[in-house]
Amino acid sequence: MRRKLVAGNWKMNGTGADLKEIDALGIAWAAPRVEIVVCPPATLVSRVAFTLGGQPIRVGGQDCHAEQSGAHTGDVAAEMLAEAGATHVILGHSERRADHGETDAIVHAKVEAAHRAKLTAIVCVGESLEQREGGTTLDVVAGQLAASLPDGATAQNTVVAYEPIWAIGTGKVPSTEQIAEVHGAIRDKLRERFGEEADGIRLLYGGSVKADNAEAIFATADVDGALVGGASLKSTDFSPIVSALE
Ligand code: PGA
Repeated sequence: MRRKLVAGNWKMNGTGADLKEIDALGIAWAAPRVEIVVCPPATLVSRVAFTLGGQPIRVGGQDCHAEQSGAHTGDVAAEMLAEAGATHVILGHSERRADHGETDAIVHAKVEAAHRAKLTAIVCVGESLEQREGGTTLDVVAGQLAASLPDGATAQNTVVAYEPIWAIGTGKVPSTEQIAEVHGAIRDKLRERFGEEADGIRLLYGGSVKADNAEAIFATADVDGALVGGASLKSTDFSPIVSALE
């Protein structure tokens, strides 16, 4: 029922020379069963979209401002990403929450902006190591979810990515039991709030997803795909992860 989704988060990596990776992905995935989204830095969104042309791989931004225009030096509006060819945008990534002080309220406003611009928001939640060890993971994630998602969230316009902060870029991955526990709790919270609509909202796992652990993660209950950082930069690393989801 839920179409599987794998999104690549290039973070602050990538220049024109890396468009060859997009070419390679386009050739490898001319007719994918799963949905593939590549999120390059804002400077490359339009070039990636152009490179892909009419191909089915989608392009996403990594952040947007809550407003449509204005005096916000350095920021990019959701409408600008959409005009550049994006269909998705990652919001509330833990690096933005940490580096830019993004609160749940800010993320909430950005998700509304994404929806206003007809972008699908990939909303990130996840606990720190301290919170995991303190046993508050489910409360932390439930709190982020409740405060970051607007009432207008639907299966079409919203994807949730569970990304434990301690698993991002570290090579450490939660056990599949731990992932299943959090994803199950997220699904329950979404059902409480959004009713049947919640059954269509995709839940991605993110944090050190690689070719060698992707299959086990994708076989876990309530995992509809992945948000991939480091292993999304090279098509030779990313494609095996897409294959594991297919
Ligand atoms: P990673 O990053 O795959 O490099 O751990 C995931 C993310 O931050 O989205």
